Amino acid sequence: MPTAAEKALSRLERPLLPLISLLEMLYLTGPFAGIEELLAELPADIETNGCHYDEPAALLRAEMDIIREVELLKNNHPLSCLIIDDRGQECPRVEAVELWIAQGIMIRELEEINSLLCGGRGCDLCCIGPANHSRHNFFDIPLGDGEVEGFTGLRRVDEAIEGDIYAEPAPLIDERPFYQSDVPFLLRWRRGWSLVLPRRSSCPKLADNGFCTVYEQRPAVCRKPQIFPYALEEDGRSGDGGLPRYVGRRKLLAVWDCPYVREYQAQIARYGELCGMEPVFKENKA
Ligand code: SF4
Ligand code: SF4
Repeated sequence: MPTAAEKALSRLERPLLPLISLLEMLYLTGPFAGIEELLAELPADIETNGCHYDEPAALLRAEMDIIREVELLKNNHPLSCLIIDDRGQECPRVEAVELWIAQGIMIRELEEINSLLCGGRGCDLCCIGPANHSRHNFFDIPLGDGEVEGFTGLRRVDEAIEGDIYAEPAPLIDERPFYQSDVPFLLRWRRGWSLVLPRRSSCPKLADNGFCTVYEQRPAVCRKPQIFPYALEEDGRSGDGGLPRYVGRRKLLAVWDCPYVREYQAQIARYGELCGMEPVFKENKA
């Protein structure tokens, strides 16, 4: 049986995007009315860009909710979003669809790869507040409304504090900067709840052995990968008709502090290249 790390590495070595790029090219240039018609004609296995795929039709069908955007393109229907380049010009429709699909596929794929690489490692870097020498005063773990209920027993500051959590000067609680606490607490901002981890504090769900006690039900933010897609960046504005607007970046970011990012740097860089993204390694926590 392959280990979790071996499964993750095999996913990094064989991303879905080269197969999807081939599908896009065949579909857009071929006589197919819909993607399903093309899938029905695919062989039992395919080799492309140095990657081998068994049962490609089944792999692609599992991603149809994302891939279907290419049908809108071929049929000249409006797309689901507006994508601009870094000069503010609207991207051609083919490129916009390619980036949209790449972002959606990589989000899904990298969440699974992250879980495989992080899950059995016993690393707690994401679950403890900054060390004394850190330039950070606290770590912020944003929580959804339903997730807050999982953190009973913590102090709740329910004042809907204005502004950004990283704004200077920091908002005061009990007449001192909010992060000057010895223990974690829940803080409600206008934008939603945060679990605040002050310096040297630990998430209350972290066990002494370094594992998360609620791993299967951990908050959504704790599932986010340390390797994450940056094919698109949210622009914060809307296009015509209220369409969400994004800037095309075509990058793959990886957080250097994470031990598996350092260990598998070469494989992560290769994954980015296979996906048509520039790999960028950056420090997050210090
Ligand atoms: S909920 Fe679990 S994974 Fe998330 S910070 Fe706490 S211990 Fe870590
Ligand atoms: S730093 Fe990496 S390995 Fe450590 S807990 Fe975070 S995601 Fe997992």
